[in-house]
Amino acid sequence: MKAKERHMLKDYVSRIQDADLVLVGIGPELSAYELIDFKTEIQNEHYQKLLRMDEEDKDVIWMRQAYERHYLLNHSQVPYFKKLEEVLDQKDYFVITSNNDGLIFHSGLDKNRLTAPCGSGDFFQCKGPCSEQLYPAELGLEDLIRHYETTGKIEHLECPKCGAPLVYNIRTEDTKSTYIEGAYLNSWAAYTKWLQTTLNKKLFILELGEGFGVPGLFRWPFEKMAFYNEKAYMVRVNRTLYQIGEELKGKADAVKMDSKDFLEIER
Ligand SMILES: [Zn+2]
Repeated sequence: MKAKERHMLKDYVSRIQDADLVLVGIGPELSAYELIDFKTEIQNEHYQKLLRMDEEDKDVIWMRQAYERHYLLNHSQVPYFKKLEEVLDQKDYFVITSNNDGLIFHSGLDKNRLTAPCGSGDFFQCKGPCSEQLYPAELGLEDLIRHYETTGKIEHLECPKCGAPLVYNIRTEDTKSTYIEGAYLNSWAAYTKWLQTTLNKKLFILELGEGFGVPGLFRWPFEKMAFYNEKAYMVRVNRTLYQIGEELKGKADAVKMDSKDFLEIER
């Protein structure tokens, strides 16, 4: 199917207004590392010093990430999803993301209509894991940062139950077999319940910047919904992975564009 090059969110406003329900998926093109330049945003001298250290050093990576995650957790409202917030205002919508940075929870979107099954950076978990216990990330990160800034030493956090390292409760390629799925289950239940209401409704599906990291999460399910729901329309936006199969001809647009540009995010 031929890709549309210059279509942007504003070109779909009337279609969105006309829809009963709007389903949005947000992928890596709109992740924190794509949107936020931590080097300029975090002016803390200790963090700046870490940026000049060995990039391959595991401890340095860990400590940098501690500052970045701490920054994300304490971020006030982020402006990146403004255009999306505007078109979704007054609509019955749900947003799912495969990102694990918690960024959409700092947007103006309704928190009851968001789910982040790969984690949001709010918790640590045991690396093992020895139990299903989750530990608030905020406290651990503050400890790490305080210790580093007073002693210059990079510490790791230990599981209080078994002594193994604590790691971020996020789902990545490395952690997919040990990821504890407790934190997002309520929002996931709300999501699946909402999906049940989409049957035979005019459903507008907007997939933004998703790749093939976890295609089973929403990339493939969105295609399936667009295919089976006769009143559905789907728009897939991606700089490189915008392709849509022939079976969705007339029911979907492939927009060859970075999602940041599609949402008119300044950068
Ligand atoms: Zn443990």
